[in-house]
Amino acid sequence: MVMTGLKATKVEVEVDGTRGQPALIVIGLPNKAIDEAKERISSALTNCGIRVRSIRTIVNLAPAEVKKTSSALELAIAVGLLKMYGELTWDTDRAMFFGELSLDGSLKPVRGLFPMVLAAKEMGVKRIFFPRENSQEVAVVRGLTLYPIEHLRQLLGFATRPIKPLLSTHSPQFSRSTDDVFGQMVGQEQAKRAIQIAAAGRHNMLLIGSPGAGKSMLARAMRSILPPLSEAEAIEVTKLYSLRGLAQQGLIVERPFREPHHTTSTAGLIGGGHTLQPGEISLAHLGVLFLDEFPEYSQSSLEALRQPMEDGRVVITRVNGSVEYPARFMLVAAANPCPCGYQFHSTRQCQCSEREISRYQRRISGPILDRIDIQLKMQSIDPERFAQQETVFHQTERARQTVALVQQRQLKRQGKTNAVLSYKQLRQFGGIQPAVWHFCHGRRVGFSSPAAAI
Ligand SMILES: [Zn+2]
Repeated sequence: MVMTGLKATKVEVEVDGTRGQPALIVIGLPNKAIDEAKERISSALTNCGIRVRSIRTIVNLAPAEVKKTSSALELAIAVGLLKMYGELTWDTDRAMFFGELSLDGSLKPVRGLFPMVLAAKEMGVKRIFFPRENSQEVAVVRGLTLYPIEHLRQLLGFATRPIKPLLSTHSPQFSRSTDDVFGQMVGQEQAKRAIQIAAAGRHNMLLIGSPGAGKSMLARAMRSILPPLSEAEAIEVTKLYSLRGLAQQGLIVERPFREPHHTTSTAGLIGGGHTLQPGEISLAHLGVLFLDEFPEYSQSSLEALRQPMEDGRVVITRVNGSVEYPARFMLVAAANPCPCGYQFHSTRQCQCSEREISRYQRRISGPILDRIDIQLKMQSIDPERFAQQETVFHQTERARQTVALVQQRQLKRQGKTNAVLSYKQLRQFGGIQPAVWHFCHGRRVGFSSPAAAI
């Protein structure tokens, strides 16, 4: 099985021995990968006490037109060879093998096992053999027998020494992050109201304020009040994490919150690299993407955010192919008002010239700003004033209930959250009177507007 984005393709391993110059020929992999895979497979077989036959052996990986990486296929190729040699005699019908081999025959974990096992189940596969280190990742999948293995040798003896199948785990609890950042915030009532509106409608936000105004804390407070993931959402998210090798602890049960640094490459942010992996925007799918110091991200990264923000998905095209990943994230961007950070500050003086300020602000282009519904100016607050206020848990609980209720109301009314309403739908459902309408610029509706609030 190989993955192209989230699309799984079954790969058949055909092995044939013919007359001719002794060699192991693998068809259907990129050249460099073939050499490495051949070395590992031959060495692993030798270490299991299997003599690699000196005949001309052809391994064909079909279908030929699908791009493959070798790592997850190595175990299947080794099994194909063992069958041809007559060393492995048990019936491998409706079984699938995943794993990268070490030189000594032990198995290394593979990326993307979770979506591959789900796809295998759809294809009617009954038994899966996979690296033990991936166990937690696939333990929630039911309906097929999962055999975790550590060493190729275990397959040789499978007929007489059965491998203990993995017991499926109970349905996990879907929870929020346990940190109550929302409850820890003192003052900032307007900001707290803004993030509740944003969380309910899944609106993108831009927070503008001086250093110390609490922008990062406010972004993290979003985690405390967003509704927990549903099981279907958790599966969708876990598939993406699995492709990056980040799901080995099991199903992702918390709504994602990603905060890549502004020095992250465009490929790291958007997705790509030579294996066309999902980027941070896809790891933030159905969750929050927090980009602090937003104007400091490279222009290419900022430009590349536009399409996913509009479509909720990203298409990555490179010379070695093109893949699509979901990327329906809520953007919470934070920026200083000016390069030094202290424009409009109550006690500190801004050091920037007007030119510097306008150049700084222009880094965030109009098309990006058009996709940000809520812009919030934050003022530093004097903690002394709120010294008496303690963490109020019921405040967080009330905010959670409000967010959940408002989101349900939006979904019931229009089948989608407010953030993705079209211009026409906004007029239809928003209840905005014509007299008020001209204050709303297209889809950009501030949090003071009734459309975003209800
Ligand atoms: Zn300044």
